[in-house]
Amino acid sequence: MRGAVIHAPGDIRFETLDDPRLLHPTDAIIRTAVTCVCGSDLWPYRGAEPIGDPHPMGHEYVGFVEEVGSEVTSVRPGQFVVGSFATSDNTCANCRNGFQSNCLHREFMSTCQADHVRIPNAQGTLVATEEHPAEELWPSLLAVSDVMGTGWWAADAAQVRPGSTAVVVGDGAVGLCAVIAAKELGAERIIAMSRHASRQRLAREFGATDIVTERGDEGVARIRELTGGIGADSVLECVGTAEAMRQALHCARPGGNVGFVGVPHDVAVDGQELFFSHVGLRGGPAPVRRYLPDLIDRVLDGRIDPGKVFDLTLPLDQVAEGYRAMDERRAIKALLTP
Ligand SMILES: [Zn+2]
Repeated sequence: MRGAVIHAPGDIRFETLDDPRLLHPTDAIIRTAVTCVCGSDLWPYRGAEPIGDPHPMGHEYVGFVEEVGSEVTSVRPGQFVVGSFATSDNTCANCRNGFQSNCLHREFMSTCQADHVRIPNAQGTLVATEEHPAEELWPSLLAVSDVMGTGWWAADAAQVRPGSTAVVVGDGAVGLCAVIAAKELGAERIIAMSRHASRQRLAREFGATDIVTERGDEGVARIRELTGGIGADSVLECVGTAEAMRQALHCARPGGNVGFVGVPHDVAVDGQELFFSHVGLRGGPAPVRRYLPDLIDRVLDGRIDPGKVFDLTLPLDQVAEGYRAMDERRAIKALLTP
């Protein structure tokens, strides 16, 4: 098979790799339908995370089951399946509590920018659609496997309720999907913080009612102005930088909640400040598996179309250009077709 391998910052190569095979009776092998580049793949690409030895990349996938291990009965060869970037048995205590991305047997996916992928914990991880979905739905189903599931988690963690006011910090693919989630969960006012015209347009299309272009203290002041001087009920932090987290915490009203889903880099929270703010804070890797059946239904019913975050489609062998385009912010998110 062939797939993407990172060698050094800025150095992604498309290489011939060993074909994946079943290593455990709980594994499955899928043939990739579509995959993509994630904003979080840019951290190592930009040298902000150590790379070590060259290794495959990618954690988002939808595909067709080719082979299953002897203990996998929930999906069968030929089915179209959606999974999560974090695999889970879906039976342990953490899974039963709805935190499948903290499964006691969790393995993070890391080889998905390839034409075939081994899925550990396949029984608990993969959800098959009843029929093969139309090809135009594949991008939205792919989005569900990570960015849409993560946007949903941001809204869930920030306790977006019908009639509430939500602020979304970050206009990457996750931030835009968080707008969709806030809308679906009934937020009356959704303020997207974005400085890019094309992303603002998509945010509005997804349900944003207001756009704030200011950042930092000015951004916080603008949010206060728009929320009666007290801040928002829910803030969805979808970036992971210190500045974004600070902005998010300051945009929430006393008693409001921040959901943080951007992988934190150099983020520190001041305990005194958090204590006196009365702001609730919850984040982490999204328990995508909890949301999969519902989100797949919403896509298949045409209620949501998160696949619109893919504004660049490339053949898988041009994966390096996908990274470049996202790094240079020429693309929100690159879809890769084997
Ligand atoms: Zn588990």
